[in-house]
Amino acid sequence: MFLPLVYHDDYSPPFPAEHRFPMEKFRLLYGHLLDSGLTRDEQLHRPEICPAEVLALAHCPAYIRRFLDGDLGREEQRRLGLPWSEALARRTVRAVGGSLLTAELAMRHGLACHLAGGTHHAHFDHAAGFCIFNDLAVISRYLLEAGTVQRVLIFDCDVHQGDGTARLLADTPEAITVSLHCEKNFPARKAESDWDIPLPMGMGDADYLQVVDDALNYLLPLYQPDLVLYDAGVDVHKDDALGYLQLTDAGLAERDERVIRHCLGRDIPVMGVIGGGYDKDRAALARRHGILHHSAGRVWREMGLE
Ligand SMILES: [Zn+2]
Repeated sequence: MFLPLVYHDDYSPPFPAEHRFPMEKFRLLYGHLLDSGLTRDEQLHRPEICPAEVLALAHCPAYIRRFLDGDLGREEQRRLGLPWSEALARRTVRAVGGSLLTAELAMRHGLACHLAGGTHHAHFDHAAGFCIFNDLAVISRYLLEAGTVQRVLIFDCDVHQGDGTARLLADTPEAITVSLHCEKNFPARKAESDWDIPLPMGMGDADYLQVVDDALNYLLPLYQPDLVLYDAGVDVHKDDALGYLQLTDAGLAERDERVIRHCLGRDIPVMGVIGGGYDKDRAALARRHGILHHSAGRVWREMGLE
């Protein structure tokens, strides 16, 4: 079978073209993965909307209601940084549903990737940094409560710290939060993950890959999680508009492959979400995000999983 990939047409709703958040990147990524022959449309898995009661495993019910109803206050709207619309609301809950489906597929098949996800700045009762609901925290809680897993590990390689995830899961010892991020970057006030690995500005491929190897060689045997949630943010790339690291395309591909191999080599299922990535050249950005899915596809084929 094909590598399980999760996508929905709702992911890129109509949106101001010049907005700093590249909302069309999800649709462009979908097009890129089809054009580059990794998958076919009929092979993609389409998620349901994540129900409000599942979101409430990690978020304030009143905040969920306000957002879904388009009832955010002026300050809440400012923090969100995205213009509210019904299509945005639907997209948001659809994408959390997509991460949930990706997790379930990963548990079943060992590996699965989302064409969205990684909204790691979202907090209990407010949005931040373009993130509304925290898929990583919601899924962790959901799988733990359902008894599907006893322990999960979130390996967050987005260039920004996963501050929302760290705070939301601070009292959930069965969810291990790990964040590799550029030390001088958003958010200015860092949270406390279980493991924070701050990286100096300007770090390149070789040093970065060594940190990834060292971290996983230590953490995976230590915790032996039942699932790894991998945030493969590409804002560590040298051409990214918001990151300050210097990874190349080859470095990204190597990172993604290594993370997946570290997990599968220990019989730990792994799900990939795309995380952050910012570039005025939206086609280049879509190709950059697609490195995750192509890397996963290579491992998938080599391990004879298809
Ligand atoms: Zn980021």
